[in-house]
Amino acid sequence: MEAGEDCCVKVAVHVRPLIADEKLQGCKDCVTVVPGKPQVQIGAHSFTFDHVYGSTGSPSSAMFEECVAPLIDGLFQGYNATVLAYGQTGSGKTYTMGTGFRDGCQQIGIIPQVMNALFSKIGTLKHQIDFQLHVSFIEILKEEVRDLLDPSSMGKPETTNGHAGKMASPGKPPIQIRETSNGVITLAGSTEVSVATLKEMAACLEQGSLSRATGSTNMNNQSSRSHAIFTITLEQMRKLNMPSDNCLNDTMNEEYLCAKLHLVDLAGSERAKRTGSDGLRFKEGVHINKGLLALGNVISALGDEKKRKEGVHVPYRDSKLTRLLQDSLGGNSRTVMIACISPADINAEETLNTLKYANRAR
Ligand code: ADP
Ligand code: MG
Repeated sequence: MEAGEDCCVKVAVHVRPLIADEKLQGCKDCVTVVPGKPQVQIGAHSFTFDHVYGSTGSPSSAMFEECVAPLIDGLFQGYNATVLAYGQTGSGKTYTMGTGFRDGCQQIGIIPQVMNALFSKIGTLKHQIDFQLHVSFIEILKEEVRDLLDPSSMGKPETTNGHAGKMASPGKPPIQIRETSNGVITLAGSTEVSVATLKEMAACLEQGSLSRATGSTNMNNQSSRSHAIFTITLEQMRKLNMPSDNCLNDTMNEEYLCAKLHLVDLAGSERAKRTGSDGLRFKEGVHINKGLLALGNVISALGDEKKRKEGVHVPYRDSKLTRLLQDSLGGNSRTVMIACISPADINAEETLNTLKYANRAR
């Protein structure tokens, strides 16, 4: 099957190199990227995607240029967009997205590149357009939304009991996902930081990254069981250069656009049983799977042109994740899923699961 040209969901695969730990364990590379083709092979299985990035060959900037830069152009035209990093814990999601951003660390992930591109474009346009930028950074853990930019909760993960309507932290109502009458999804109660410079935006990324909850599992003691969503909202007021001696026309001389870009570092996709942990962890695993399951169903419904034309129901309401992304998945918005995989033979089973999930998305 060829990659769909006008499909609203693009799928890329990123194969990270073997890491030191895997080499120490004597792991073998079991993933082959077919040269010159967006194709990846594991065992007897072969998959074709929109793009495949191997550990050798393509520079890291290629993925940004091919997959993400078009979404930024769309943002300036008023189209919402979503970039999702999917894969098992340790497959390179956080590395790829740049969600683990620390100032002084040279790692360049997608989010830092997005910020650079955004501000350089704004720099070339600011004489014609007034820009307003806002960022929010939240995570969804056990179907609850946590504000990573809330100054009062810095560095202390919340203990919530999961009852709807229960206060998440003293004096602060829980964050609620709402939909306006014209279909815009808002996050009531989350911190939205107005940023004017690249440095200010980078500070938000860094602050939220530090505050992100992580828990230990058998897979990786820095494993993230939550979905982290860094959202950039771009508002534009275009100053049209038209003579306006007729004051009635004044309002017509301005054009307002607002669009948002969600950059999502998804929870580890490994099966709950593989965390081999206690009941509590398992419950979290089940909840995480709920978000990933709903996402798979939504994206698969969107990617199926036949289903789309028939107006098949897209199950956005099945999880907090898909509900939050509702106005930025499908419709006029653009979505890129980056499936991250490890090349190590010990991960072959999960790698195959990831490739199957990603394949369903296109
Ligand atoms: P995840 O977020 O999916 O759990 P991480 O992004 O934390 O995975 O990556 C796991 C490990 O692999 C980290 O040590 C990271 O530095 C390393 N890694 C991931 N991607 C790459 C890459 N493209 N090149 C080199 N090392 C990588
Ligand atoms: Mg991670």
